[in-house]
Amino acid sequence: MSEPSAVNRPSRVAPPRLLFESGSLGRSGFYWPAENGKVQAAIPAGLRRDDIPGFPELGELEVLRHFTRLSQRNFGIESQFYPLGSCTMKYNPKVNEVVARFPGFALIHPLAPIELLQGAIELLYELEHILSEISGMEHVSLQPSAGAQGELTGLMLIRAHLAEEGNPRKKIIVPDTAHGTNPASSTLCGYDVVQISSSAGGIIDAASVEKMMDEDVAALMITNPNTLGLFEKNIEAVAAVVHAKGGLVYLDGANLNALVGVAKPGHMGVDVLHMNLHKTFSTPHGGGGPGAGPVAVKERLRAYLPVPRIVKTAGVFALRDDCPKSIGRVRSFFGNFGVLVRAYSYIISLGADGLEEASRMALLNANYIRKKLEKSYQIAYDEPCMHECIFTDRIQHKSGVSTLDIAKRLLDYGFHPPTIYFPLVVAGALMIEPTETETPETLDGFVEAMLSIAQEAKENPELVKSAPHSTPVRRLDEARAARKPVVRWERQRADGDERQG
Ligand SMILES: *Cc1c(COP(=O)(O)O)cnc(C)c1O
Repeated sequence: MSEPSAVNRPSRVAPPRLLFESGSLGRSGFYWPAENGKVQAAIPAGLRRDDIPGFPELGELEVLRHFTRLSQRNFGIESQFYPLGSCTMKYNPKVNEVVARFPGFALIHPLAPIELLQGAIELLYELEHILSEISGMEHVSLQPSAGAQGELTGLMLIRAHLAEEGNPRKKIIVPDTAHGTNPASSTLCGYDVVQISSSAGGIIDAASVEKMMDEDVAALMITNPNTLGLFEKNIEAVAAVVHAKGGLVYLDGANLNALVGVAKPGHMGVDVLHMNLHKTFSTPHGGGGPGAGPVAVKERLRAYLPVPRIVKTAGVFALRDDCPKSIGRVRSFFGNFGVLVRAYSYIISLGADGLEEASRMALLNANYIRKKLEKSYQIAYDEPCMHECIFTDRIQHKSGVSTLDIAKRLLDYGFHPPTIYFPLVVAGALMIEPTETETPETLDGFVEAMLSIAQEAKENPELVKSAPHSTPVRRLDEARAARKPVVRWERQRADGDERQG
């Protein structure tokens, strides 16, 4: 195995500098011709400032290079493989970006009269119908801006419906494998969370649900495929148990990338679900945004959907607010419009066949990695997986190497690490989601790096435990960086902190 090459190689030309360390007094980003003095004079004196104390003075090119350099130190799907389990970091075709930038979409004002928004609203109307079809549900609201907000919205619909029937109930059952947003959304919606354990096989069974199910349970929140990358094959039996006691079934559809075009949650006994358009239907979503988490429901929950609802009468689109049972708005205007345009463009450009093939390729790629690594890393659940596969650090632990060390060492090989230590039910989890957009060569390169790290863990554990070696910064105190972010140069200097670019 040759030396790993890091994409984030530190610049050999000049050490990294902060903007505050660069520049020189009197430098400016633009030139102000003398004859424009008139313009300057037109700015009222009270709004003019000669000096901003402590502000760096820089030329345009210095600023440009600074930010370009920073962008090159970032890790993106366009630089390398990004197998971050649960996040579906697939490549987002540029055609969707082009469509989202069409002036007719990008420059419209949400307060423009509805007659001038017909094209945009038609796109939303069609997207609602396409998502109904894909999910096997009956009605869709595009308003929620993220998966988590979709969850909250869906639970609010359940609460509104049960309240109207006479009792909103008290509890939501959530499996131990669930994403953290599930218990959080349930709590925000005023419910108590009861955790159900998955069986040894990593999925839940109807008998355990039956034991917990009573008339205080408003809903079961289930993720399918679940966060272990396993298909909840008992879902229909589980749904029947929940329905028998008057509860509803909420499906966390964030993992829909494994199902699109192959299976429909609406056929599995689900009453309401959300989809993460930014995961399944193309939107660059690193760094926390933007997103869209539409909710889809069966007929019995339609009346409670957020307003306004899009209606079409004789070819003309209108927005309806007079829905007395609606939970109201959950977001301003039309949802995260740019993300909705990208999703529409992605779906139309792939077509039904393309979507199905994408799901099948996502599964194939995950199973390819699972088979290639199963002799060197302990596999958490030894059976075919859906769109992601989970390993643990059990074998490497014998030589003191942990999941965190393996993740850090992958950076030296130029790969973004997988999701680590999640789901919580798997000790030392390494959760790998390759997605459908990767070539066999890339998957092989990643497999080779993982095998090489397994070898290093045996022969030279210190090398892995002290990784990364080739990145601009080494191991960061991530908890401190998140809790006490240093955003001011003076503070950073006063603390005598190591400079971290
Ligand atoms: C990503 C994810 C969520 C949350 O979605 P956001 O858009 O990040 O709020 C919920 N559940 C699962 C299973 C997920 O993977």
